[in-house]
Amino acid sequence: MSLLSLTDVGAAYGASQALFGVSLEIGRGEALALVGRNGMGKTTTVKAICGMLPASGTLVFDGHNLSHLPSHRAARLGIGLVPEGRRCFRDLTVEENLLSAARKGHWDLARVSDLFPRLGERRRQRAALLSGGEQQMLAIGRALMTNPRLLIMDEATEGLSPLVRQEIWSVIATLKSETGMTLMVIDKSLRELRAACDHAVILERGRSVWSGPFDAMTGDIVTRYLGL
Ligand code: ATP
Repeated sequence: MSLLSLTDVGAAYGASQALFGVSLEIGRGEALALVGRNGMGKTTTVKAICGMLPASGTLVFDGHNLSHLPSHRAARLGIGLVPEGRRCFRDLTVEENLLSAARKGHWDLARVSDLFPRLGERRRQRAALLSGGEQQMLAIGRALMTNPRLLIMDEATEGLSPLVRQEIWSVIATLKSETGMTLMVIDKSLRELRAACDHAVILERGRSVWSGPFDAMTGDIVTRYLGL
């Protein structure tokens, strides 16, 4: 059975419909890339999964129906989100940011600091003083501290320097191979997504229009849906 399954999911911002039918599956321990050009509904799909937006259709996570669950309940079920734009508590220290998200499990301060030594070094610094890359590490660390069974990363490496990007991709690879974490990743770099993920779903105008293993995503499909 899949860990997460969406069937024909719709969602709207007020009167403005943004999703018209998104279907996808993620198996346990798999990494899924959610791709599509700007404005095609990737972030909206994430919001529907996390309970930040009312959704129609069927959303099932680990046997639980997610429809109409508020976001704190989705988090409690084990969905961890690294949101677009990071959103850490700027006035709290690194350590306070991490602890404020903590739930019992494998991931604790020590393990997150092992994964991101820089966060360990800066644990007493206010989040506002961190670089963009460090803030993204903190956002990932915060999501891990909730001990999620599914980690969703929206714009995993957006706005980061090439070196920090490499670091984030290597952490994603570590999470997948060493901890068996189930992942959903959104990013602009198709090349990195291909290396990191097993499957992809392509969104176009609020609909999932293609899904399959990355190996099956031919140049034709990329040109047609992603305009690359
Ligand atoms: P991007 O890569 O630009 O973040 P995306 O694929 O994540 O794109 P969404 O942000 O999910 O796309 O946007 C899907 C559609 O919903 C777009 O038409 C967008 O204009 C609309 N939309 C997004 N956020 C809002 C909002 N807060 N209010 C109204 N419409 C919105």
